Amino acid sequence: ADDLVRSVHRVLTHADGQRRLGVRANADTPEDAARARRFGARGIGLCRTEHMFLGDRRQLVERLILADGDDERQGALDALEPLQKQDFLEIFEAMDGMPVTVRLLDPPLHEFLPDLTELSVRVAVAEAKGGADEGTLRLLAAVQRLHEQNPMLGLRGVRLGLVVPGLFAMQVRAIAEAACERRRAGGDPRPEIMIPLVGAVQELEAIREESERVLAQVCADEGIDVRALIGTMIEVPRAALTADQIAGSAEFFSFGTNDLTQMTWGFSRDDVEAAFFHAYLDKGIFGVSPFESLDRPGVGRLVEIGVERGRAARPDLKLGVCGEHGGDPDSVHFFHEVGLDYVSCSPFRVPIARLEAGRAALGGGLSGS
Ligand code: PEP
Ligand code: MG
Repeated sequence: ADDLVRSVHRVLTHADGQRRLGVRANADTPEDAARARRFGARGIGLCRTEHMFLGDRRQLVERLILADGDDERQGALDALEPLQKQDFLEIFEAMDGMPVTVRLLDPPLHEFLPDLTELSVRVAVAEAKGGADEGTLRLLAAVQRLHEQNPMLGLRGVRLGLVVPGLFAMQVRAIAEAACERRRAGGDPRPEIMIPLVGAVQELEAIREESERVLAQVCADEGIDVRALIGTMIEVPRAALTADQIAGSAEFFSFGTNDLTQMTWGFSRDDVEAAFFHAYLDKGIFGVSPFESLDRPGVGRLVEIGVERGRAARPDLKLGVCGEHGGDPDSVHFFHEVGLDYVSCSPFRVPIARLEAGRAALGGGLSGS
């Protein structure tokens, strides 16, 4: 077994010597970050911050989104900020000296809100018994207002950042303060701030301005010059098509091929498998799920357009991918061909991505072909 491990290690080291694509990992805990490093990742390409708000903290996000007035909202933000700072501090420590792309909150909103049906039943029962209290009625009205038929196409990502005052600023402040603290401890944090679900440059500009203001303020307060690249995901077809404009406000792009696939095909990521995927596979409409292997004439074409238009507008634009395709062998070859700088995938797929990136650079075909 030791011989086998040594052989695999030799092959991967050889691939590392050949490949042009960087390999990062998608990780949002210090444990995953450490695991990714052991597998050979050189940074985090996607830290999904919504995963940091599950469990006990879910209540705080609910309070933030449903806040009745500025004071209540600010109270929730003040409670969340130190928790976020600690999250980032631990991740920067685990990935010291390597880039960590922190994606600002992109939650499926319904996971953070009370269930509308349950709440309606609760109110109906209370009314039957003599009346629901005012707080519960207000909550019901807010949940009704935010209820969505298609949450994955709804109030997510940058839209939430634009609608909930102070939310993204709180996250950026936590990132900057964690980076300062890490620097004071002698570390080398390399934060990158990523704005999700952008479809128009104006969305990005608004958040970018706010983020730069917060970064400058923290640097001045702490007396430490912390730099953070600010970039965006390209995961809405319109973002790929207007990549030249978007590149004017982004230092990097990371292709989110999960959402890009959903929106290009018009398939719901959440429902498609149960509803009609198998029929499509049986009929040969696609050979492999487009969520697994990049659909090159379709979704892949949008990636090409995003790369071409983005680089034409900003030649030093950094380009990566962090959708599931970042760890799919066939797709890794495509990302090499199209000229991305790095792929980012789950920690366990990092070795495969390293291998395939090396094979792609050597002009090799796919494993087994
Ligand atoms: C994506 O859309 O490809 C992506 C990486 O983001 P998420 O899967 O979190 O929506
Ligand atoms: Mg996405």
